[in-house]
Amino acid sequence: MDRREFLQSAAATAGAVAFPQLRTASALARSEQMVGIQVGAVSFVDEGVDKVLDVFQQDGAVNSLFIATFTYGRGIAGRQVPGQPLPDHGKQEYDRGTFYGGSYTKIDPQYFKETAFKTFRAPDFGDYDVLDAVLPSAKRRGLKTYCWFEDVFRADLPGIDQLQEKELSGNNATTLCFNNPNYRNWLLGITEYWSRTYDVDGIMWGSERQGAFSNALNASASTTPASPMRVTCFCQYCQAKAKESGIDPERARRGFLELASFVDASQKGKRPVDGYYVSLWRLMLNYPELLAWEMLWTKSLRDTYAAIYAKAKEAKPSIQVGWHIWHTNSFNPIYRAEQDLQAIAPHSDFLKIVIYNNCGGERMAQYINNVGSTIYGDVPKEQLLEFHYQVLNYKEKGLAEIPITGLSADYVYRETKRAREGLAGGKTLLWPGIDIDIPTAPGHSKCSPEGVRDAVLAAFKGGSDGVLLSRKYSEMKLADLRGAGDAIRQLRST
Ligand SMILES: [Zn+2]
Repeated sequence: MDRREFLQSAAATAGAVAFPQLRTASALARSEQMVGIQVGAVSFVDEGVDKVLDVFQQDGAVNSLFIATFTYGRGIAGRQVPGQPLPDHGKQEYDRGTFYGGSYTKIDPQYFKETAFKTFRAPDFGDYDVLDAVLPSAKRRGLKTYCWFEDVFRADLPGIDQLQEKELSGNNATTLCFNNPNYRNWLLGITEYWSRTYDVDGIMWGSERQGAFSNALNASASTTPASPMRVTCFCQYCQAKAKESGIDPERARRGFLELASFVDASQKGKRPVDGYYVSLWRLMLNYPELLAWEMLWTKSLRDTYAAIYAKAKEAKPSIQVGWHIWHTNSFNPIYRAEQDLQAIAPHSDFLKIVIYNNCGGERMAQYINNVGSTIYGDVPKEQLLEFHYQVLNYKEKGLAEIPITGLSADYVYRETKRAREGLAGGKTLLWPGIDIDIPTAPGHSKCSPEGVRDAVLAAFKGGSDGVLLSRKYSEMKLADLRGAGDAIRQLRST
């Protein structure tokens, strides 16, 4: 089969529009296309390093490892989430009670002198160091290795209260504040430690959070109800940073208290006299600090990106540094506006933009339900979904269907293409995150080998420089991983 025939047949199988051949050809002609996979320490411990790497290379056509070196979350570390079916590899039991989280590498205390958070070695596997265990085999095989860590912590860690955000309520949050020197120094400490200590090729960090305005309105795919008194951050460091930027913290607080009343009433179905949308606008006009505070949070995230980037490069100039961009980017137009790729690109060698299509249907439906009970309480939800398809520029099925069908490969194509165009003029590489068996509710859409294959093909068709198979190997079925590998092998052979 020649390239033209392959592209035609791939397009036909994908049921999508014809592949623009030049872009696909040029993308795959560059042999260094990144094909990464996210994997936690537990997979190497349970299945053996070389066995896992064999599967990655042979089935997934993988050339880069994104090892979860630090997290307290089950999304990227640990075995399959309890309650979801175990995949066809690895230990056939859940790590209920044995998953704790933390750093899966050794720690050198000299890098953590300037923070109150010093005890974070994952106890899960004793003194096992996942980078020491994997790097020799990865090097021998020519695989690149990235440290992959995320902004997810527990509330019961020694000293962690000194890093935590302050809620509108005045209580500590379980999330940490980017403007708190204890957290900033911890992030920079672990970045420098990994960069100097291990022969890794890169670092990726991700923060799946947003500012107080979007959170108050529950403008995400969160399955918990809005809790507008718990939004963040109102700590002393954020207040000081606000004042420097000419934002009055007291007026911001008052605005958020009024917003909390609005959200509480809307959740009880108490329609304001002028309706939901108009009343929200009145609040924003009376308190421009609502948006200023949202942007302060976003700016602080960008400042954190810049600081991690600079620290890693200072420690090791050749290291590649980039970010995991949260799925909410595909649902919430406010969050999408905050992900200004031209603003982020100068501190990003690469971006993993989450474009998970299978679980995307369930998540989009949840997002519509959430904002359909706050900002858009007056708009029928089916129409609200249609509005979002229009403003976000992708077109999928109706509200009742998308949890059952997932989103299509065309969604992956459109989101990739949009990001590619958003990054125009810069050198930042675009590696969409591809959904392989990310858990969904019973009865909802599940991944298939063909669906994964089509998603990977669509990413390249949209102009990606690679793909990152997500979220973690320990939840992936081998056949679905092979679906990704099939796409890569087909594209490489044409
Ligand atoms: Zn703060």
